[in-house]
Amino acid sequence: MGERVHMVSLGCPKNRVDSEVMAGKLRRAEWSVVDDPAEADVILVNTCSFIQAATEESVNTILELAAFKESGACRKLVVTGCMAQRYAGELEEALPEVDLFVGTGEFHRIDELLARPDAPRTVVGEPTWLQGDEDPRVNSALPHSAWLKISEGCDHRCAFCIIPKLRGKLRSRSLPSLVAEARRLVDQGVVELNLVSQDSTAWGRDLDGGADLGDLVRALAEIDGLRWIRVHYLYPHGVPEAFLDAMAREDKVVEYVDIPLQHVSGPVLKAMRRGVSADEQRRILERIRSRVPDASIRTTFIVGFPGETDRDFERLLAFVGEGWFDHVGVFTYSAEEGTAAAKFPGQVPAEVAEARRDELMRLAARLSAERLAARVGRVEEVLVDGPSPDSELVLAGRLRTQAPDVDGRVYLEFPPEDLRPGDIRQVRITRSGDYDLVGEVVD
Ligand code: SF4
Repeated sequence: MGERVHMVSLGCPKNRVDSEVMAGKLRRAEWSVVDDPAEADVILVNTCSFIQAATEESVNTILELAAFKESGACRKLVVTGCMAQRYAGELEEALPEVDLFVGTGEFHRIDELLARPDAPRTVVGEPTWLQGDEDPRVNSALPHSAWLKISEGCDHRCAFCIIPKLRGKLRSRSLPSLVAEARRLVDQGVVELNLVSQDSTAWGRDLDGGADLGDLVRALAEIDGLRWIRVHYLYPHGVPEAFLDAMAREDKVVEYVDIPLQHVSGPVLKAMRRGVSADEQRRILERIRSRVPDASIRTTFIVGFPGETDRDFERLLAFVGEGWFDHVGVFTYSAEEGTAAAKFPGQVPAEVAEARRDELMRLAARLSAERLAARVGRVEEVLVDGPSPDSELVLAGRLRTQAPDVDGRVYLEFPPEDLRPGDIRQVRITRSGDYDLVGEVVD
């Protein structure tokens, strides 16, 4: 029997795709991936370090799993991903339990690094690597749904964000590479693809021939067997018209726009160095609504950014109160070492930022409940995911406008016996809550 690895993937779906690539490379090298850390020869933690809280979660996970070096079969503890990249060198002393640190530009060499007895303890370089369709990958999501990473890195320099330092400059995967990987996933049973990157709006800008996101989703829509294509992380400036056009015309491109705005008040957007004004943001939202009237719009906001005044926050509340959004995520600002904003004057006290977050979340929950209540009585397509994470006894699925992990669900009452995960069925919505719905299969 080959060696066994136990893997933990923290952070965002992009990190999860990296974990899936590492699992693919290790499987190809005859490793087996095991669920029980006590059985593993190697334990690997793919870390997140976007904000301080994520770094703390990464460290706590590493320390918990380090115990298996004493109590289990583990002989090597490996730390990969954003935290290894961000704190390269500093971690060797801080985490003596860890045997190998691998950065965001080198994780694809995990099979080779684990096979080499002379591998250095820290392997962190410039992040330039880009996944190709020939790279093996093990889908760790539900068998009928997968994430597809369309590009890596980001060319923006938002004042609060460390990501460009951790992930490098924009590198788009080629259209043939993405179509080939998507076909392979569909051959394995995937019916829903969620496209992810740091900045999906920019996909294709760095490719010869000038493709854009519209070309990509149209090419993916031609794949037989693929039913839903959802795009995440649209930077608000320059969303291609061809993409909205594809969403309006092509049934497989679901009417869902995930567009992190971060704020709406002009002075805060300027200080954030977002490169987009409040008016431009309003115009793109209007453009989305006029091209795709029933689009669900998801966004995220940061409250408590340095210099954010009560007036700025009131503008944000008023804007959200206009009812543009179906899904709103709210974060309190975290001053990250190595970012411009960490040195800005006017840092907002934590309790003020938290109170603003709570107030905005309450408003967003009320608006979400109103929008979901309007769906009661309608018959909508639902992708069946399987038993709900809350109870094995209840089946759950999602609307076209509900992305996995981040949005709500549809709980299915009285499910017919032939219902299978991966089915897309017509469901009458019977009840609604703040984020979730209840419905009955009617086809
Ligand atoms: S666009 Fe997103 S990933 Fe890029 S720097 Fe801004 S916040 Fe970070």
